[in-house]
Amino acid sequence: MNRKFVKSQEQYQEALKYIPGGVNSPVRAFKAVGDYPIFIESGEGSKIIDIDGNKYIDYVCSWGPLILGHRHPAVMAAVAESLARGTTFGAPTELEIALARLITSAFPVMDMVRMVNSGTEATMSALRLARAYTGRNKILKFTGCYHGHADSLLVKAGSGLLTLGTPSGPGVPPSLVIHTITASYNDLVEVEAIFSKEGEEIAAVIMEPVAGNMGIVEPLPGFCEGLRQITKEYGALLIFDEVITGFRLAWGGAGTLMGVEPDLTCLGKIIGGGLPVGAYGGKQEIMELLAPTGPVYQAGTLSGNPLAMSAGLAVLHELSKPGVYESLAKKTEALAVGLKNAALSAGAKVTVNQCGSLLTCFFTGGPVHDYQSATTANTEKYKRFFQKMLERGVYLPPSQFEALFLSLAHSDNDIDTTLKAAAAAFKAAI
Ligand code: PLP
Repeated sequence: MNRKFVKSQEQYQEALKYIPGGVNSPVRAFKAVGDYPIFIESGEGSKIIDIDGNKYIDYVCSWGPLILGHRHPAVMAAVAESLARGTTFGAPTELEIALARLITSAFPVMDMVRMVNSGTEATMSALRLARAYTGRNKILKFTGCYHGHADSLLVKAGSGLLTLGTPSGPGVPPSLVIHTITASYNDLVEVEAIFSKEGEEIAAVIMEPVAGNMGIVEPLPGFCEGLRQITKEYGALLIFDEVITGFRLAWGGAGTLMGVEPDLTCLGKIIGGGLPVGAYGGKQEIMELLAPTGPVYQAGTLSGNPLAMSAGLAVLHELSKPGVYESLAKKTEALAVGLKNAALSAGAKVTVNQCGSLLTCFFTGGPVHDYQSATTANTEKYKRFFQKMLERGVYLPPSQFEALFLSLAHSDNDIDTTLKAAAAAFKAAI
């Protein structure tokens, strides 16, 4: 199949003049897998069409929000209806209560929730709250986890920073990260050692309960439970960053699924149905420290935006229907098994990590359970694989260290087409 990317190439040159790197978020760049990103014209269900008219099965799904696929009728209708009443008021609406009620009912650990505009804002604000609540400064995060681009969290981070090889960002003064401690994901012994030394100074442990930003890495049995126990023992808060996993792995999130109760939970992506959103919530006694009830300041002109609330409500309504998560997991499992078999037939060494509707195919032979094992993956092979898949109409994340996101719109036929493309792409990759 010979695809032409003439217009994308042209527009990329144009974009470079006005937008740093031609993209408004580094993860959209194709630096790790080719030259220029493709520019998107439209989406429908599981597919996207670029400005050259090429159609792809989309496994990025806007990096997670589109769990129903593109242009889901219920979401389109809800946004259109909301739009007709106005775009923003900077004053409360009933929609905010409806979404907050739904989120807190899905997450038993959340008595209250505050809406913000992005996942970055959610984690940044949750940390401020944790520091205010505990009266401590230090935080512990895990290498390869990404929690948005707030200064204190850009330390040994995953996602675009891992892809671009800059896991700790310049522009962040050392004085702003002296309170950030890092540990290896899945290494409870290391966490125990850190806490035995400085546990009394640690305000919070922040973690992705299933890591998605070094590729998909699941917690080993007992890891999250152990973190809950240690944080409790030392009076630190446990923050689950469920910006990816919230409403993706289960009604509620990974915490609900594992039966581990964090003190604060961060959300984003799915709860805004494809419009900008973030949220953080937890126990009432912590949340009521927030202004205007308490002294911890956090605000936002567009927070709780009616269009985002309407889209989020429509998505959650669809996700509340029976069988949704089983169906997502079944499709993704079929893709995971198919990819393993295709790689085996082609003689490619890969490790497929799959959790619910999230999946990463690492070009490495051994198991992947932390940053170190993830980075044994061969990024050159992934690049060749990515390009062959793109040529065959499959749009994968343009980085080895990101997740594939499936949606309810992905069909069995999409999976078959993807696996046929993968059979050829694995051969080209090795
Ligand atoms: N936390 C996690 C786990 C994420 O994956 C991301 C983004 O991908 C964020 C936080 C930041 O969210 P946003 O990009 O909406 O600021």
